[in-house]
Amino acid sequence: MRNDTPVEAGRDFIRDIIDGDLEAGRASEVVTRFPPEPNGYLHIGHAKAIGLNFGVAQEYGGRCHLRFDDTNPIKEEQEYIDAIQRDVHWLGFDWGGHLYFASDYFEQLYDWAEHLIRSGKAYVDDTPVEEMRAMRGSLTEAGRDSPYRDRSVAENLDLFRRMRDGEFPNGARVLRAKIDMASGNLNLRDPVLYRILHAEHPRTGTRWCIYPTYDFAHGQSDAIEGVTHSLCTLEFEDHRPLYDWLIDNLPVPSRPRQYEIARLSLNYTVLSKRFLTELVRQGRVSGWDDPRMPTLAALRRRGVPPAALRDFVRRVGVARANSVVDVAMFEHAVREHLNKTAQRRMAVLRPLKLVIENYPGGAVEELDAINNPEDPSAGTRPLPFARELYIDREDFLEHPPKGFYRLSPGREVRLRYAYFVTCREVVKDAAGEPTELICTYDPATRGGDAPDKRKVRATLHWVSAAHALPAEIRLYHPLFGRPDPGADGDLIADLNPHSLETLRESRVEPSLANASPAETVQFERQGYFCPDLDSTPQRLVFNRTIGLRDSWAKAQAGGG
Ligand code: ATP
Ligand code: MG
Repeated sequence: MRNDTPVEAGRDFIRDIIDGDLEAGRASEVVTRFPPEPNGYLHIGHAKAIGLNFGVAQEYGGRCHLRFDDTNPIKEEQEYIDAIQRDVHWLGFDWGGHLYFASDYFEQLYDWAEHLIRSGKAYVDDTPVEEMRAMRGSLTEAGRDSPYRDRSVAENLDLFRRMRDGEFPNGARVLRAKIDMASGNLNLRDPVLYRILHAEHPRTGTRWCIYPTYDFAHGQSDAIEGVTHSLCTLEFEDHRPLYDWLIDNLPVPSRPRQYEIARLSLNYTVLSKRFLTELVRQGRVSGWDDPRMPTLAALRRRGVPPAALRDFVRRVGVARANSVVDVAMFEHAVREHLNKTAQRRMAVLRPLKLVIENYPGGAVEELDAINNPEDPSAGTRPLPFARELYIDREDFLEHPPKGFYRLSPGREVRLRYAYFVTCREVVKDAAGEPTELICTYDPATRGGDAPDKRKVRATLHWVSAAHALPAEIRLYHPLFGRPDPGADGDLIADLNPHSLETLRESRVEPSLANASPAETVQFERQGYFCPDLDSTPQRLVFNRTIGLRDSWAKAQAGGG
């Protein structure tokens, strides 16, 4: 199923629920949280959850916490904790003083686990993991009670404390809630609350060797922080009865409620931290911020403005059914922002020399180039013009087919902001490839118009050979070669081997010498680009953020 239809912000079922809760007095304020596990970088799917949680809090004058769900020390790292904070800020949201960690609540959670044991609602189980899984039953078959299910409170307390004290190896025992092994909901079949993990935690070090599960940590953390609306993705829907059971059976200080929304999925993209971690680990990409990745760090490096991402997730909206969003819709949002904000520059990706034989050698003119036709206040800049220029190789064809209006022998075209030029002669190498075009110009066409009103059918971009700066340009293509990567069960096999194209001979206009990585510009007729993190004044490197062609806008206009 596809759902590409933009919806108005503020018209979704979550906002309706909140309105209802406030009206009925079930909540007196709105407190949300964004709860990442620090086991990877944030991706564009997280942007949806961030936009929703922070957005809702803002709209209702409430607050949104950033809470790290750091309950699995084996996969979690400080690097991820830092990256996540950087990325949420970059996206434009602020948790103020409300930065929390589930690990801050380990002592409280432990006390609550003992509380459950004392009320006869939790027990220590020695059943080996494999056997426990087999005894859990299935959707059609009830589970079987563990032989340890009826241990006395005293024995359970003793064993649980000894688990905490490190007496047992990993996997020897777990603490389970005592609910109902015949429940129709598998999550209620005596779920595991604590497991033994002799592992160092990024924040609590070696203080603990038992760790709460997601289910035991999450709702209780919500309750401790006074979260009113705990928004998560649909795969947690079946966990909600457990969420409520724990809240109902523990002396928690507040009554949070969980609501589920659809996950964001995009075609040609994989949004799974586990798989993205694999790509990084296997060196299939240069890192979490490789501009081909769907992570926020990669999108930032690639030159995507955070406002475009915010707009995109707002338009995707909040629904209760999972669907796949067309990545063209995301790209449309990026182009829309950049078209309004990006300054225009001249760059030649694949240079072909053009020599104007009737232009005085050694002369240099400064032409006036418009920075942004969408924004007159952006002004103009001087562009040096001289006898030897570069144009893009693809703007010339020796034998033009019908419909090709750019340069070819004997034809006149406009050089943007400069003059009309006519191609007189083609110099070729031994292989017959054009290496230089000998042209003439018409001095009366300065600025780009002919006094006699004669027309040309093409306007080309160019740079002055002597003034342009060499640059490496990285063009990115989709990381996957098919819209539904992994549909045949092998994500790696679906990687697009040509996702990175590097051009090493490009030339850019001199004003780009000091371009800022945070400022994406439009290379005229080519697309949007920004300096890469690897760029230095000695060696300029640009990323293509996105091309100019907008298939999404076209599809919308065509009613497709
Ligand atoms: P992944 O499956 O990529 O590992 P996750 O859900 O395990 O993602 P978390 O760090 O637990 O990652 O996610 C933090 C929050 O972001 C959760 O509330 C989760 O529901 C939400 N989230 C994660 N992925 C998406 C997505 N694709 N669309 C919307 N929300 C998401
Ligand atoms: Mg998760």
